[in-house]
Amino acid sequence: MKLHRPAVSVYTVPTDAPEADGTLSWDSTTVVIAEVSAGEATGTGWTYGPAAVGGFLQEQLAPLVEGHSALDVPAAHDAMCRAVRNVGRPGVAACAISALDLALWDLKARLLELPLTRLLGACRDRIPVYGSGGFTTYHDTHLAAQLNGWVHGQRIPRVKIKIGGSWGREVSRDLTRVRAARQVIGPKTELYVDANGAYNRKQAVRIGQALAEHGVGWFEEPVSSDDLTGLRLVRDALLCDVTAGEYGYDLPYFARMITAGAVDCLQVDVTRCGGVTEFLRAAALAQSHGLEVSTHCAPHAHAAAAATIPNLRHAEWFHDHVRIESMFFDGVLDPAGGTVSPVNGIGHGLTLRTEDVAEYRVA
Ligand SMILES: [Mg+2]
Repeated sequence: MKLHRPAVSVYTVPTDAPEADGTLSWDSTTVVIAEVSAGEATGTGWTYGPAAVGGFLQEQLAPLVEGHSALDVPAAHDAMCRAVRNVGRPGVAACAISALDLALWDLKARLLELPLTRLLGACRDRIPVYGSGGFTTYHDTHLAAQLNGWVHGQRIPRVKIKIGGSWGREVSRDLTRVRAARQVIGPKTELYVDANGAYNRKQAVRIGQALAEHGVGWFEEPVSSDDLTGLRLVRDALLCDVTAGEYGYDLPYFARMITAGAVDCLQVDVTRCGGVTEFLRAAALAQSHGLEVSTHCAPHAHAAAAATIPNLRHAEWFHDHVRIESMFFDGVLDPAGGTVSPVNGIGHGLTLRTEDVAEYRVA
């Protein structure tokens, strides 16, 4: 069973409100979708990144995997990873590899008429999720409404908000927002924060100590993810979990982060790290060091793979991507009660609504 040449489409969707974290702001999100066929089946994968990811996929990766065996996904994955040597893997190339790798796994499961979780081998029936958003651009009532929707509407017992506004220059506002969030969600809901690398080392320690008063148990990227020594320093100084890993585009990145003792829980993004193939390897690497994995963004791209790893902590139910994936796919998951079940049909269970989203297509 040989692979046909993959097809690529790119869509840009405006956000439903201005969005920002501590170190970046945006008003639209671009999703790059890869579709690959063999026999009568088609697999679909995607990533979030610039349209250039789609161009790279079309020009460099699509001809490369054409003719490969549809059943031997690691072979196609390895061919892609070798081919990007001179370009450099992190960033555009890794996102393109990730989208196509996810499509290849989905295709294989569809060819064998299996749910992707069954093909990989499930370790759990349900995946805990946490509501994620709380952008620094939200005014108080918007933040409260979003948190209310997750905690009291969908009964998700874990939420995360962004802090570190304006590169860490709005600490008083950050703490006010955390206090407000705690009031909305009540004392029992787990509260997480993500600074997206906005603070410096000692600033992050001081803020982490203040966050403890509000029961914050997860401090994501308190300093830049590039500052592994700083992450370790903050981690050693605080009781809450320090987490990072979302910019991991290859296995050595995760190895460096883990061996530096930089995180209490490793975040891995299947749409960046190299797809399902590399996600499973990163999870195994984390497990070998006694660490759990939390999936980053793109919840429907992760669900099947997340169900197959023993050391999963939870999956991020990220507002922006939940919204887009609900617009783009039939078969999306329901997080009511705080978990999702990934087994809902063959492959990853999602079907692209091509005609419904045509207005957003840019390439
Ligand atoms: Mg983050």
